[in-house]
Amino acid sequence: MISVDEHRQAVTALLPVAPPVALPLADCAGLVLAEDVRAGVSLPPFDNSAMDGFAVRAEDVAGASVEHPVKLPIANDIPAGRLDVTGLEPGTAHRIMTGAPMPPGADSVVMVEDTTSSRTEDSWDVWITAATEPGTHLRHTGEDVVAGTVALTRGTVLGHAQLGLAAACGLDELRVHRPLRVVVASTGSELVVAPEPLRHGQIYESNAVMLAAAIRGLGCEVEIVRSVVDDVDEFSAALVPKLADADLLITSGGVSAGAYEVVKDALTGAGVEFRKVAIQPGGPQGFGRWHGVPVITLPGNPVSVLVSFEVFVRPALLTALGHTDVDRHRVRATLTESMNSPAGRRQFRRGFYTPTEGQVTGIVGPRGGPGSHLLAAFTQANCLIELPEGVSEVDKGDEVDVLLL
Ligand code: AMP
Ligand code: MG
Repeated sequence: MISVDEHRQAVTALLPVAPPVALPLADCAGLVLAEDVRAGVSLPPFDNSAMDGFAVRAEDVAGASVEHPVKLPIANDIPAGRLDVTGLEPGTAHRIMTGAPMPPGADSVVMVEDTTSSRTEDSWDVWITAATEPGTHLRHTGEDVVAGTVALTRGTVLGHAQLGLAAACGLDELRVHRPLRVVVASTGSELVVAPEPLRHGQIYESNAVMLAAAIRGLGCEVEIVRSVVDDVDEFSAALVPKLADADLLITSGGVSAGAYEVVKDALTGAGVEFRKVAIQPGGPQGFGRWHGVPVITLPGNPVSVLVSFEVFVRPALLTALGHTDVDRHRVRATLTESMNSPAGRRQFRRGFYTPTEGQVTGIVGPRGGPGSHLLAAFTQANCLIELPEGVSEVDKGDEVDVLLL
């Protein structure tokens, strides 16, 4: 039997790192930046007000208080977006809004709450009721980012904050590792796609939907083929045309030791190697190339599919998408129930982890038994409990490794 780690490496090695491509910002969410990005402008690009209020010279309002307000004529009005800002004459104030450029000569802003103003036909004045220090309520040019410096480094995963920063720096597109195009295909003559009614002996197809959602969530484009019957010719007829634009084909079902193993029958000797991996669930695995396209063949049981995705597919796809952090967060936790594990295999059980307040560890209990058909239990899990190959029994109170999903 092949070890979990060896198979994981083999699957990861199948996929080259995706080449860089320039995409509009809005299409980059979740993708990985392929090159450093330098800011074309400083942030803020100009000194501006952090408050709605009045731009003044601090020395003009020294000693101002509610009891002794300082009266200044309002010489100008500066809303955000005003382009023709003039200098502030000593002994005057400019009304200014948040984000508006500071008038040269002003050194601080008094917020509107510390003022009262009055306007008549021939005068506009403000009474300042609080003193200020130079620099108060100002945002300085380049305080966040300096023009020409690296704002986002290569390898950054582009979440919403990173995309916001790129937009603020004036970028309209970014060079990212291209999203992979993955074809996901389910096999099995028993599979039916809803809303078609089920006949006795049939089941609704679920693997393709799960895999597609999981893979899209990593930033890939997915085409799904919901059900291919267990016939080698039909398998090839359905899937070979899909390979032309694909970076990867992932199949489920048809790789075990029984008869009618369509994936095994179609791909053995065609570039795909089938092997038994020391994992439970999900032992029968295959990987290789078919018509030049990387292929990963997963077993059919839905929980095997989900565990195989976590252990083999997810790290391989993340690596190919340019990620460097491809592992789930691992913590130690105390078991609330005893469990068994098959000797010689690494078992991944569905579990629910609860952190213990004030401690680095937590507690974990299984959700559902080891059966690889128990999909409902997976939906109640938030982690996988990993029991190493050498362990066949763990007791309540033992510490185990937990992978947080
Ligand atoms: P197989 O590996 O093809 O023998 O499938 C193992 C088990 O998983 C069988 O009980 C199948 O009916 C079930 N199965 C296979 N593919 C799917 C699928 N796409 N959706 C739901 N169950 C499946
Ligand atoms: Mg099958």
